[in-house]
Amino acid sequence: MEVTIVGAGLVGCLLACFLARRGHHVTLYERRPDPREQGPDRGRSINLAMSERGIDALRRLGLDGKVLDAALPMAGRVMHAQDGALTFQPYSADRTQAINSIGRAALNRELLDVASALPGVEVRFGHRLTGLDERTGRLEFEHGEVADGARVVIGADGAFSAVRARLQQLPGVSFSQDYLDYGYKELSIPAKDGEFALDPGALHIWPRGRSMMIALPNRDRSFTCTLFWPHETLAALDTPQRISAYFGEHYSDAVELMPGLAADFRANPVGHLVTMRCSPWHVTTEAATVGLVGDAAHAIVPFYGQGANCGFEDCVELDRCLDETGDDFPAALELFERRRADTDVIARLALDNFVEMRDRVGSRVFLAGKRVEHT
Ligand code: FAD
Repeated sequence: MEVTIVGAGLVGCLLACFLARRGHHVTLYERRPDPREQGPDRGRSINLAMSERGIDALRRLGLDGKVLDAALPMAGRVMHAQDGALTFQPYSADRTQAINSIGRAALNRELLDVASALPGVEVRFGHRLTGLDERTGRLEFEHGEVADGARVVIGADGAFSAVRARLQQLPGVSFSQDYLDYGYKELSIPAKDGEFALDPGALHIWPRGRSMMIALPNRDRSFTCTLFWPHETLAALDTPQRISAYFGEHYSDAVELMPGLAADFRANPVGHLVTMRCSPWHVTTEAATVGLVGDAAHAIVPFYGQGANCGFEDCVELDRCLDETGDDFPAALELFERRRADTDVIARLALDNFVEMRDRVGSRVFLAGKRVEHT
């Protein structure tokens, strides 16, 4: 079968690998130029935490070893109190169990390399989808290019999916988006004298009640920090003096490790935090079937570190649905809808975990090992 995937991000590339293994011919359309010829994006999370959910998907294709070789395991979280006191909370009694800090750009390049080397996979960069007609299978791209007669189109084009935008126009398709009143901004803690400035075996959290900062280690011995702050706080720090004073008060142990703080804070963009829900995730006509995976189907806030992990699990689940239906895509995408029960739960857990990370992990009760119940 000829399959069109829109979006050669993490999920689109991995899905191409699964489908090629089943013998399908896959054309991936990606709006960006080939990222293997560029530096990493600014303003996105530069690294991400990959857990067993995502690693399981990689393992099924024999890709886990190479990806984990490039990762930094984080066996627990280190809490940074406002007075500089540190507390380590292991994720598991078994210290070999860890989540893994992985460079997003490197992972995307690796998956692109693997996908584009497979027989039957073609990646077309610089192709931004601008129009889709599910009645004919016609795809339109920026600059006027068209592709006719697509029988199976999978939107893996992220939270602001153009494929989903078309489905949203159809009767019977429900969609919602819920923004938090918070934004995120990435900063950096560079290596200090060639070494990590903080423990690289942990995810670092500075819980500050209504807001927080986290930091994950990178292979180059730096840390990528992410602020999750109310929009008004992000906007209020509009001079180098205000930035330094605020960090000096609230993140005193980190500020001395961030020599580029004021410049980074002013230069780096503010990202939005949104939960998106769409139902159904697929539409079938006489000419074509169109489905959604990854963030295009279920974008969630990042506090559970599960967005990409869930997108990878989508690939496993869709592969299983294709097994069950003998590679009948309309039937497989119908079966795949049962996954919504799980993705709805993860979306809720991700929202709950924001309160936990920014507030409860720093409470005396939690630090004493007695976890308070959520209200
Ligand atoms: P994307 O990564 O958004 O990829 C979509 C692709 O489609 C892109 O390549 C894009 O260029 C392309 N595209 C978009 N529109 C078009 C178009 N019209 N035509 C053609 N191509 C198009 N997840 C985790 O598992 N662990 C974490 O620790 C984690 N941390 C995060 C931290 C932050 C701050 C944020 C914002 C997210 C985090 N996530 C994390 C979530 C994770 O980034 C997403 O779930 C994941 O990137 C989704 O992958 P995707 O391939 O579905 O979408």
